[in-house]
Amino acid sequence: MSNKVVTRFAPSPTGFLHIGGVRTALFAYLWAKKNGGQFILRIEDTDKKREVAGSIEQIMRSLSWLGISWEYGPDKPSPDFGSCLQSERLATYKSYAERLVEKGLAYPDTRSAEELDALRDKAQAEGRPFLVREHRPKEFETWDGQSTLRFKVSELKRYTWHDVVRGQLSAGEEALDDFIIMKADGFPTYNFAHIIDDLEMGVTHIFRTDEFISSTPKFLSLYEALEIKHPIFTTLPPIMGPDGKKKLSKRDGAKDTLDYAKDGYLPSALCNFLALIGWNPGGEQELFFTEDELASVFSLEKIQRSGGAFNEEKLRWMNSEHLKQLGREAQTAYVTKGLPDSVTTAPQYSDERLARAVPVIIERIHNLVELRELFAAGEFDWLFKEPSYDPELLKWKNDDSVHAAKSRLQHVLGLLETTDFSSPEAVKNALWGYAEEIGRGEVLWPLRVALSGKERSPDPFMCAYILGPEETQKRVATACAKIAG
Ligand code: GLU
Repeated sequence: MSNKVVTRFAPSPTGFLHIGGVRTALFAYLWAKKNGGQFILRIEDTDKKREVAGSIEQIMRSLSWLGISWEYGPDKPSPDFGSCLQSERLATYKSYAERLVEKGLAYPDTRSAEELDALRDKAQAEGRPFLVREHRPKEFETWDGQSTLRFKVSELKRYTWHDVVRGQLSAGEEALDDFIIMKADGFPTYNFAHIIDDLEMGVTHIFRTDEFISSTPKFLSLYEALEIKHPIFTTLPPIMGPDGKKKLSKRDGAKDTLDYAKDGYLPSALCNFLALIGWNPGGEQELFFTEDELASVFSLEKIQRSGGAFNEEKLRWMNSEHLKQLGREAQTAYVTKGLPDSVTTAPQYSDERLARAVPVIIERIHNLVELRELFAAGEFDWLFKEPSYDPELLKWKNDDSVHAAKSRLQHVLGLLETTDFSSPEAVKNALWGYAEEIGRGEVLWPLRVALSGKERSPDPFMCAYILGPEETQKRVATACAKIAG
């Protein structure tokens, strides 16, 4: 046996992949990556009634978008263990089930679904859990492969086990009973299938959330019966809503992972954010710009026991930090993707001007939702359309009237004729001396308004650089003309 780390993410295809599922996948992936191991995507599609069409593709797309890649998955069977879809592995479960029957460790339950329902209802009415504890004798067993098969729990006892995050855990016999391992339709139950698959796939570490702790005695009794060692259990803390008190609900952001893509979150930012929910690398560093960086510092010891809050504000902040980190070309592609059509059809739109404006746009946003909002609010209209504004806005607060601005703008117009527009700094170099001489506000305020038509906008050197020489001169001339007298 090799010591290779093998982890898996094992979603049931019952809908889109939400943020909680992705966090589990990410932890399993990072651990495999850190150890040079394998990450497997296994689809647990044993409950055909609950399956939602398209979810397998959706899960694969979500993970791929995040850069989480799998060694084996629904699209990539393994030469050793075969398919990663449980529905295609029925023969494997059957053969393990038969072995248990032969050993007298499993037995068929021939009662109909209605009979069992009646028993369950009765137990419920009497306020006790419905537990099947029949302990049928070994001689009784034969199984036609077509009826429900129960695992015969060998002993009602307390189990104690080790969890990497929770330490020593223990649970008693209260949840132990002769649980179903194969259903009459030929499909295994989760309790059985995941154990067989983890064994067959060589899984060394299981990452999952705490809802499986109470079933662990069942799993342990099966591991015992199969005479196998169980993988290392790693229980991830729950993801809490923003208040940190309740588990994250759909309303607080447990939405489809791909919606984050639509809203302009970068995969690297979402991974960075999710990694820090329930894992704390220690130290000051919070920003990890690549999965390699994350994987290199990831460790099981630093996974926390208590729930981590889903703080959307933090996600927004991280996304803007990741955006600033991108190269100019990638930033331009990002902004272009979010632009409403009305922008690209604006009278002065050009790709070149947009490329020059990208840093000031990126500076203002955390995601594409905000980009769309700012454009819809007309915040960036001046970029591609001559601004319309009240000439009074050109008046610097210390001036008595707007007239004072006119001669200054006319002087600036003269300077602009020989200005180098190759960078905002170059524009600044050309105008700064004059601004210092006359007064910064006196010159820069009307100039900025002339270029953007706004009380607030980037500084006039940046505006001029973005607009380019011709348009800058035109707008300054227009401003002069607006001031009567
Ligand atoms: N199919 C299970 C689920 O989606 C997987 C649990 C596990 O990771 O073992 O909840």
